[in-house]
Amino acid sequence: MKKILAGVARFQKEVFPQYRDHFAKIAGRQEPFALFITCADSRILPNLLTQTEPGDLFICRDVGNIVPPFGSVYGGVSATIEYSVAVLRVRDIIVCGHSDCGAMRGLLDPESLKALPGVLEWLRYSEDPRRAVMEHASHLSYADKLQLLIEENVVTQLEHLRTHPAVANGLAAGTLNLHGWVYEIETGHVRAYESETGKFVPVNEDEAGPVYRESGEEGDVELLCR
Ligand SMILES: [Zn+2]
Repeated sequence: MKKILAGVARFQKEVFPQYRDHFAKIAGRQEPFALFITCADSRILPNLLTQTEPGDLFICRDVGNIVPPFGSVYGGVSATIEYSVAVLRVRDIIVCGHSDCGAMRGLLDPESLKALPGVLEWLRYSEDPRRAVMEHASHLSYADKLQLLIEENVVTQLEHLRTHPAVANGLAAGTLNLHGWVYEIETGHVRAYESETGKFVPVNEDEAGPVYRESGEEGDVELLCR
């Protein structure tokens, strides 16, 4: 806690004054333009990696950047999605997975989760991509399997996202776009899912970026790019 408390003191003394006007402007009202759903992993800092300001991103974090399908569980994730889309009117939702994800490692080695019933239960919303990788990509090296699972999981969670009524309404009205990202911790690179090719491609600041589009049947996991 020492480091955290010292950080709060330094923030109040040295950092906050630089943001004083900005915080005064947003203190009574927020207008984030995107919902950013990512893993709880300590190495991912959404505002840092997107260079966004306080007030820009509505953020939802959980182990494995998982979005349970609508109705399967009513909890923090579904409430955050509903509120950000229906009330705050975010225009984009990004589901951001990442390299070296402990949740995805756990999926590849379920034995390691035996003493973690809460994690095990939560990860069942990633069962489709896990099964697809184990059935169709078991010949790959562990590192390649892990990367494939990280990507497949992002696509599956985007499919789950579409089942939420607020999201479905936004997509039908053309007021909402979905994006699937994978962030690489050691390089800082971000790749985005391109529905047309089924691949994750580097994001380019000159373009709006690939937008996720529906394909295939619900729950039908098609392996990406390999
Ligand atoms: Zn993770």
